[in-house]
Amino acid sequence: MATSLGANTYNRQNWEDADFPILCQTCLGENPYIRMSKEKYGKECKICARPFTVFRWCPGTRMRFKKTEVCQTCSKMKNVCQTCLLDLEYGLPIQVRDTGLDIKDDVPKSDVNKEYYTQNAEREIGNSDGTRPVGLLGKAPSSSEMLLKLARTTPYYKRNRPHICSFWVKGECKRGEECPYRHEKPTDPDDPLADQNIKDRYYGINDPVADKLLKRASTMPRLDTPEDKTITTLYVGGMGDTISDAELRNHFYQFGEIRTTTIVQRQQCAFIQFATRQAAELAAEKSFNKLIINGRRLTVKWGRSQAARGKEAYQDGVSEMGTRLDPVPGLPGGNSPPPPALEEDAPTNYFNLDPGTSPNVMNISLPPPPGINPPPPGFGAPMFHMGSMGPPPPMGMRPPGHIHYPSQDPQRMGAHAARHGD
Ligand SMILES: [Zn+2]
Ligand SMILES: [Zn+2]
Ligand SMILES: [Zn+2]
Repeated sequence: MATSLGANTYNRQNWEDADFPILCQTCLGENPYIRMSKEKYGKECKICARPFTVFRWCPGTRMRFKKTEVCQTCSKMKNVCQTCLLDLEYGLPIQVRDTGLDIKDDVPKSDVNKEYYTQNAEREIGNSDGTRPVGLLGKAPSSSEMLLKLARTTPYYKRNRPHICSFWVKGECKRGEECPYRHEKPTDPDDPLADQNIKDRYYGINDPVADKLLKRASTMPRLDTPEDKTITTLYVGGMGDTISDAELRNHFYQFGEIRTTTIVQRQQCAFIQFATRQAAELAAEKSFNKLIINGRRLTVKWGRSQAARGKEAYQDGVSEMGTRLDPVPGLPGGNSPPPPALEEDAPTNYFNLDPGTSPNVMNISLPPPPGINPPPPGFGAPMFHMGSMGPPPPMGMRPPGHIHYPSQDPQRMGAHAARHGD
């Protein structure tokens, strides 16, 4: 190991020797049996410049090797991944998170003050029980509407792909299939890791990705209230198999009396009928585009209009009230169209941003195209697809205030592998 790790060598007790890195699920990768190598005091932290323990690992086949870039104190102070610096709760850049929570960075930029600040923060972290972030973040509100709208709730493993081959871009790469870099046109302007100053991202300033996200957050889709006042039913889509009736009620009861809830297992959706229109409107407003249960982002739309009731309901196999009807013999089962492969189609959609093409409001009286079974009422594009990798583990959205580090989850074998990786 190099001995010239900067001015901190005199102060060895402040060097960090961590057992496990603090990583987001995306950086960790999808393989639970990941192997990590660990180098004590391997590098200086890119923020506080103190030597820290560097972890290196490959987050999956044909992915690029990753390493931790900032120390654990700096990571804990901002509750961010040690590698990508995205917020661990929401998967968003610090600048976006801090704007959403209305907090301002107060980390001093001068070396001496920074060291003093970091040591204080370290003490505060040491004295805390680890269930709340420390400092400003610990005192901030636990969430905001904007963050719930933008939050990324599933890992985005494509972010771990190799970088683009600069030789290939110039038409000069001779390595062909052997080349470890990607032979693709550079089209990732939203890649949070593309050429950004790591310090700016940490301090939450001049972050072009954050600017873009914030701009788009203000123009995110709205859910139009149907004119037919008799509609008091909301459609909830993208449920998967794990969300129970009780969990749905736990969320929706706060808006008013619920008349019925109906889960349609095969379509992975549910219908919540409220006793009053007022309650349904409130529920729609408070849930649209920000309902996350068990780490799943759920689609919320209005049930269908009067005009569209009747014959269509029979074709759907689901009536307006959500009552299950017998399937029509001779028609193929599983009417739901496969979820659109958002991540395949829109490589730049790193965050929960509407790519601008998917309708946010179901055209509820639109007749189905001939020969195609219509989707259930209100069925629309889920925000995230599960792809061919199967459902990724849900990652975020814990009760406010509880910190969870995926890379330190005892259920992850990675935690053990790291221990032997020395
Ligand atoms: Zn640091
Ligand atoms: Zn990360
Ligand atoms: Zn190449």
